[in-house]
Amino acid sequence: MRDFSTDHRWLSINTATVRFSRSQALPLNAILEACAAHEIRAISPWRDQVAAMGVTPAARQIRALGLELSGYCRGGMFTATDTAGLRAADDDNRRAVDEAHELGAPCVVLVVGGLPGALAGKAAHKDIGLSRQQVTDGLGRMLDYARSANMPLAIEPLHPMYAADRACVNTMEHALDLCDALDPERTGALGVACDVYHVWWDPKLEAQIRRAGRERLLAFHVCDWLTPTRDLLNDRGMMGDGVIDIPRIRSWVEAQGFAGYSEAEIFSSENWWKRDTDEILDTCIARHRSAV
Ligand code: ZN
Repeated sequence: MRDFSTDHRWLSINTATVRFSRSQALPLNAILEACAAHEIRAISPWRDQVAAMGVTPAARQIRALGLELSGYCRGGMFTATDTAGLRAADDDNRRAVDEAHELGAPCVVLVVGGLPGALAGKAAHKDIGLSRQQVTDGLGRMLDYARSANMPLAIEPLHPMYAADRACVNTMEHALDLCDALDPERTGALGVACDVYHVWWDPKLEAQIRRAGRERLLAFHVCDWLTPTRDLLNDRGMMGDGVIDIPRIRSWVEAQGFAGYSEAEIFSSENWWKRDTDEILDTCIARHRSAV
């Protein structure tokens, strides 16, 4: 396992972690400059932040600052109530692949969607089996396009508490079943994003990481699970402040040959987003060295 204690060369910052500074929205160009100033080598930007800046200007600044990407957040949301909705998701996912290509991302991270309408507050139906079928079908269509663009897709299984509104794929096992179904040859076109926040509790985690192997481990996301957790979405902890044994999970991922970035992804409306960007980044660097 790599020694992270002496430097932060393998730290990537998911731009959601510094989406706000002192509760004020921070534009992507300022995030990029702050990361470069802290000698952070990689980022994983979100599409809305890229869209606000413009894809081409963002790509230009990323290159000018010598930053790499550890992923692109995010595609997916495959579920819908009708054909028009499914088609709109397909179109949006093709755009995500194109943007990822222009930005130089190694993969598009996918949050697959749950029951349609649930995210807006009212689910259109209760048939999670139907949602899962739409995910399989939509993912297959996106994969065809992504293959032609040479852009790998990383399914991110989300914690089961998000099954209704964000993702009905909730375990590494389920995500890898989709990989087996859609890319049985293990070409590297389809894999998983292992986010410790979502999967740390899973008794099958170590075995499923082994099953994924090098070809299917496309991203590694870190933060921590706080007790108590006060908000289901925006109360993620800084690495080391919660109950996840992050080094143990990293050792499992690296035992498979994963040698990429460890991406800090912390949504924290009541704590970190209230602080100054420099403090957030300094703490990410310190915790990357001591708790990851
Ligand atoms: Zn993640």
